[in-house]
Amino acid sequence: MKRTVVLCAAIFSLSFWSCGEESSPTTPTATTLVPVGLPHVSGTIPITYNLHESLPSEWTEQFATIMKNLVVLLPLNTTNFSKVTVYSWNDSIAEPYTNVSGGAYIGGSSQTDKWMVLEIPNLEFKHNHLHQYSVIAHEYFHLHQLSIHSAMSTQDFSIKWLMEGAAAAFESVYTDQYHSPSNQTYFDAQTSVDFLVDGDPSVLENYSSQNVDQNYSSSVFLVLALVKELMKSGYSEADAFKSVLTTFPAQNPTDSNWKSVFESQFGFSVNDFYNVVKTSADYRRIPVTAGVDVAKVRPSRSLTVQSIFD
Ligand SMILES: [Zn+2]
Repeated sequence: MKRTVVLCAAIFSLSFWSCGEESSPTTPTATTLVPVGLPHVSGTIPITYNLHESLPSEWTEQFATIMKNLVVLLPLNTTNFSKVTVYSWNDSIAEPYTNVSGGAYIGGSSQTDKWMVLEIPNLEFKHNHLHQYSVIAHEYFHLHQLSIHSAMSTQDFSIKWLMEGAAAAFESVYTDQYHSPSNQTYFDAQTSVDFLVDGDPSVLENYSSQNVDQNYSSSVFLVLALVKELMKSGYSEADAFKSVLTTFPAQNPTDSNWKSVFESQFGFSVNDFYNVVKTSADYRRIPVTAGVDVAKVRPSRSLTVQSIFD
């Protein structure tokens, strides 16, 4: 349930990216703990940290390690924004940073000043839930998307399953590589795909589909099925992920031209892809009317994020 709250908050970020009326946050009473080794720049972008003392030290140390990994993997070389400020705290306290609302999202006081907000539910610390770490990878991946996709940065691209499905798929591959027990997979958090029994995948293009896309499960399914379709046409698994996660947004698709960008890059139309998801035994249970089968789209458990982006 807590996870749902966090992800709903992530949705909010989309309408928040371009908010220009917020004044700069101030931190008169919040104590900032800065663990050793935090990267203060990603690519060309400086990062400022506000890590509240309410966070467990074990978490802030892991946060530093995760940020170091992500900065090396996906440096933010961009002209779409000029700085990143991180605000993070434990939800057991009142929101400590003036003008910074709770949740987990990428927001900002302007187009050039991006905030990475990570309000971590105390229950995730108590129960040692991996979401306390996976959310860092998810939100950082949105910064990567924004850094290479100016139409997303200006909200001229808003196709939800491609943005959120990609971020959540990256989140799961990263978490499996660094945090999940070897006999488990974080993709098990993304199995609520009942919508795709007979739902039209095009509904997942819009953020209003949140009620049928718990934890972005159906959006992740579409991304993983797209990866499998590309593998059928000869891509390696890693290259297929790279094509969906980075090459596609780097072509700067917009809400008006994304279907033609999709077809020219992937070699089949969006509608053909949706029809495969709706009908193919490659991705569905038998009989195919019984719904989609998450086991049929799972990536290799040994897949690494470095193999995708290097
Ligand atoms: Zn997100």
